[in-house]
Amino acid sequence: MYLLEVYVTNATLNINRPFTYLSDQKVSLYCRVKVRFHNADNLAIVSSCKYTDQDIEQLKTELGYEPLYISAIVDEEPVLSKELFDLAFWLSRTTISPLISCLNSMLPKALKTSKKHSSPKMIARFHKYEGDFPFTKRQKEVYDLLYEGIIASDARKISVSIIPKLISLNAIEEYEEETVFTNKEIASSAFKTLTPSQQKAYEAILDTDKSVSLLFGVTGSGKTEVYLHLARHYLAQGKDVLILVPEISLTPQMIERVKQRFTDVVFYHSELSDQERYEQYKRVRNKEVRIVVGTRSSIFLPFHDLGLIIIDEEHDSSYKQDSVPCYHVKNVAFKRAKDHHGKVLLASATPSLESYTRALRGDYQLLQLKDRINHSLPKIEIIDLNTQVRNHSSYIITKPLKEEIGKCLEHGKQAIILLNRRGYSPIVKCGECGSTLMCQDCDTPLNYHKDEDVLKCHQCGRIYKRIDRCPSCGHKPLLYYGFGTKKAQEELQKLFPEAKIERMDRDSTYRKGAHEAILKRFEAHEADILLGTQMIAKGLDYPDVTLVGILNADAGLMHQDYNSAKVTFDLLMQASGRSGRADHPGKVLIQAFNPDHYAIKAVLSQDYTYFYNIEMNYRNKTKYPPYSHIIEILLSDNDEDKIKESVAYLYEQIKDLPFKIYKPYELGRSKALYRYRLLLMDKDLLALLKQTNEVIDRYVAARKHSRVRIDVDPLYLE
Ligand code: ADP
Ligand code: ZN
Repeated sequence: MYLLEVYVTNATLNINRPFTYLSDQKVSLYCRVKVRFHNADNLAIVSSCKYTDQDIEQLKTELGYEPLYISAIVDEEPVLSKELFDLAFWLSRTTISPLISCLNSMLPKALKTSKKHSSPKMIARFHKYEGDFPFTKRQKEVYDLLYEGIIASDARKISVSIIPKLISLNAIEEYEEETVFTNKEIASSAFKTLTPSQQKAYEAILDTDKSVSLLFGVTGSGKTEVYLHLARHYLAQGKDVLILVPEISLTPQMIERVKQRFTDVVFYHSELSDQERYEQYKRVRNKEVRIVVGTRSSIFLPFHDLGLIIIDEEHDSSYKQDSVPCYHVKNVAFKRAKDHHGKVLLASATPSLESYTRALRGDYQLLQLKDRINHSLPKIEIIDLNTQVRNHSSYIITKPLKEEIGKCLEHGKQAIILLNRRGYSPIVKCGECGSTLMCQDCDTPLNYHKDEDVLKCHQCGRIYKRIDRCPSCGHKPLLYYGFGTKKAQEELQKLFPEAKIERMDRDSTYRKGAHEAILKRFEAHEADILLGTQMIAKGLDYPDVTLVGILNADAGLMHQDYNSAKVTFDLLMQASGRSGRADHPGKVLIQAFNPDHYAIKAVLSQDYTYFYNIEMNYRNKTKYPPYSHIIEILLSDNDEDKIKESVAYLYEQIKDLPFKIYKPYELGRSKALYRYRLLLMDKDLLALLKQTNEVIDRYVAARKHSRVRIDVDPLYLE
């Protein structure tokens, strides 16, 4: 008999320990098994399997309870390697989240342990046996048409009625096989010859002893070409290469660029179906493919020998998962590179403060590409919206911007207009009593969406019928304030009736493939103007774009968040970088109410260092990251009394710890849940993690019910 230790999924308890089960058969480590747990069937992952010659009675005495037998073995092959299983442990400790949630984040859905899993897709085929069978003439005809491994549904197309007869004669037999998803192949074409500065960066990355390099290169400096050359080098050495890109940057253009160089490459991202993800996972595991371009979760693919991990736009917030486990892909990349003795290349035009600081200190190798491939940075100008308002001019599309768009279109060029707010009007207000329409489940104002003529909550997605009377005082009509992409589109179309405008935001891209289709149309120059939210700011490289307009550029600075200046600076720099990337000089017009803010001024002079110095000074004074680490504990509950009790318990546990501890802070409701936040801040991350892990263990043991989510080094604090 074998004693197994297994990790079970259980949504209600944050249990972070294995349970003991029995098995007559030996089970390989890291395979899944079916077990009864809390009177329900559950999947679990085996972490240890030991032979024992004790009998049940002896075990019962030893364990203090009678262990159950597992109900079934699910996998013959492990779903994880030891490296990945250990990685899950590490992830669990460093993000303070249940091990099982880490395992579930790491595996493609088809291999997850949760009960709602979708199995790998199977396809039925037939074995064809040779021999003397007592066939009728018709049966013989059908039999002769079949071949070994024929897909069952194809066989049945030949004859639905004869096939069962052949089966009963044991002439053929049905079996199931996992389907295989194949990538369309495109011939590889020549690599571009690197410019001297690209070549220098390329060689420095190969030559350095440092495990991490930071490639700080302005937009359009040819970073992607450097990645592709590096990838070729590592592949030639038989090593795996992973190129990570932000959620939205895996554009058709990017995919095309990579495909032109490498025939066999995996693209791993959220638009793949579960089945496709599983296929790609297997291809990496079976060493069929050694280069992957993917978003965050591809860091967990079962690579064998990772030579290089490239993180493009390393400052991007989509590298942080915002659900449990709230991991940052960079930390996982460092860990995996260490395990594989590989290197990490971080790259950005606007590096994170932390990475740039480390590079300046010499922890990372710092490499710079200061010039664009076309040697021409765009010209950036500001339009002060205060003046526009004073002159009673439009402040959605101002006159100077309108004129530039007009010129751009006249020359047959294309414009990109960024407005980081979707919908039509973000605020609907009563002019009489001043009350704003709010979501009933969230403490958030409702957005008016004109297409569907409804009010939407952008926090929880709940949709309300439009009303024209104030629910508080009955006054009518209501006033619509502010503007989103839909209204800007309307304005643009009014100003340029002939122009073809594509709008890209969450509302226009929720259907699978829509994002791709919009970009393809813009690339083919079927549209003149691409208007959208931050989705359009990153990675796009269209030679005909000579104008970028940014509306309400400083709206993001209004958030009272420690990181909002950096986020705004990054967004504006990225968006500006879309202009004038080829032969034609580019222009950028920025419309803002705070032209004197240092983030805006830094964008105007395209000067990262100017921004960095001011921002670091502020971070130093306030001791915000990178001068400290933050652990955020978020509690949520639908019961107001219970959450208060949980918060009080946790605060009592942490208030005397030797860190900077903030008083509990009540956040607005979201999705009908009450929410509170606790913060711990200190320079010593390991001490923070250790203490918080212990506090959370006590919290779980004390059976407090409010849901807890931990975010280590949150990128923003709402
Ligand atoms: P980044 O990623 O730094 O914004 P890209 O890699 O998109 O820059 O490069 C900008 C443009 O320059 C692209 O159109 C790319 O094809 C082109 N390019 C890059 N490197 C070279 C090179 N060595 N020779 C010619 N063109 C290049
Ligand atoms: Zn809501």
